[in-house]
Amino acid sequence: MAVTSRALELRRAGVDVISMSVGEPDFDTPPHIKAAAIRAIEAGKTNYTPVNGLPELREAVSAKFARENGLHYAPEAVTVTSGGKQALFNAFFALLNPGDEVLIPAPYWVSYPEMVALTGAVPVPVPTTPESGFQLDPGELEARITPRTRMVVLNSPGNPTGAVFPPEVLEAVAALAQRHGLMIVTDEIYEHLVYDAEQVSIGRYAPDHTLTVNGASKAYAMTGWRIGYAGGPREVIAAMNALQSQSTSNASSVSQYAALAALTQPAETARFTEQARRAYRERRDHIVAGLNALGLPTPTPQGAFYVMADTGRLHPDELEAARLLLEQARVAVVPGTDFAAPGRVRLSYATSLESIGEVLRRIAGVLEH
Ligand code: PMP
Repeated sequence: MAVTSRALELRRAGVDVISMSVGEPDFDTPPHIKAAAIRAIEAGKTNYTPVNGLPELREAVSAKFARENGLHYAPEAVTVTSGGKQALFNAFFALLNPGDEVLIPAPYWVSYPEMVALTGAVPVPVPTTPESGFQLDPGELEARITPRTRMVVLNSPGNPTGAVFPPEVLEAVAALAQRHGLMIVTDEIYEHLVYDAEQVSIGRYAPDHTLTVNGASKAYAMTGWRIGYAGGPREVIAAMNALQSQSTSNASSVSQYAALAALTQPAETARFTEQARRAYRERRDHIVAGLNALGLPTPTPQGAFYVMADTGRLHPDELEAARLLLEQARVAVVPGTDFAAPGRVRLSYATSLESIGEVLRRIAGVLEH
């Protein structure tokens, strides 16, 4: 927060700061999706929808899970939410009691432990290492299971690590969940952004123990539309719907029609996701090579659009390193502090190759002084 507000302050003062801190695609929402929303507005489809989403959208999500993920969730076992974030929030509040323990591989996306803590449950980090590309070791997970453990949160491809968990790791985690009676909440919001690995849904291995969360934000460049969804055991979905009916009621009707077009025009949508994937991959290769060449060791992430650079060469403390990058290089990054990634900062490469080139030049300039 401190870095972000300082970046804004500098910008207001006319300093040209390049932001590598945002977590959203820099692409525009594809035209066929926008057109569907415009048609929905013009046709007056602007009323409340069912709490769990339009029936045709839940059918489309159910078909998507089967087509792309090999998951079999009936439309009644699917719920539509205001962003993936609300699906996660509803899931944690539906499933957790105060004192329950939740295993979360670290580095993690900051909202998982915060949401878990809001319910009164206890987040338990499971460490991973940069040497392994932040791969999850199921043994490390098992070592932290206690009688109070209730849930495992997975995020693959992961924010901020970009790690993609391979099928054998997912199978091992699924077996642990079954053996210990744990629920797996898997956040697959970056599933389309995978470069040299295979994205597999853990729900295939333990369907009764898995809630699969996904959404339109990252896949279809739709962050502002606020559409997420989840599929899982019916009683879990029912509890999530009960919560949602007393909070937001339903996701925006117009946005639901937009998401419907994204899911029911798969050929057009795939053209966009393929093109985006190629662009991100090129950017990833460029930024990883550049940061390593500057002496800021950075593992090659297999997915999502973030890198985790070791900033020891700039400063041993990542918060100070982030401050130096902002004040001297005029590059805004996120210090790893809140992701449980000491000594590292996160850079998002959802930005142009030109900006990445300029960022690397600016950092090189600071290192030379
Ligand atoms: N999960 C992860 C890992 C994310 O990085 C984000 C966005 N930063 C979300 C979920 C939430 O996305 P949304 O609510 O826009 O669907």
